[in-house]
Amino acid sequence: MTNPTPDRLTDLLGGLLGPAGPELTCEECFEHLDRYVEVELSGADADADAAVPGMHAHLDGCPACAEDHDSLRALVGSERQSPGRGRSA
Ligand SMILES: [Zn+2]
Repeated sequence: MTNPTPDRLTDLLGGLLGPAGPELTCEECFEHLDRYVEVELSGADADADAAVPGMHAHLDGCPACAEDHDSLRALVGSERQSPGRGRSA
């Protein structure tokens, strides 16, 4: 009788389907950072966390990404305060 362990099965599926849980890699974090900051600046922190699940937890545990996030947020925030700059299309 074979008895497949659910844990291994989930691992396997997770590897095939990509990240499904609230855990981000630094790469994914970086990929979603501008969207996260956009939502963060336009609404509540809860919305930003809903937009990019796991981001907040990653920033909490990853100083490097937290620093990236801080500087991007400062950059986007300052751009919004001076409209007309940096958006010449
Ligand atoms: Zn990171």
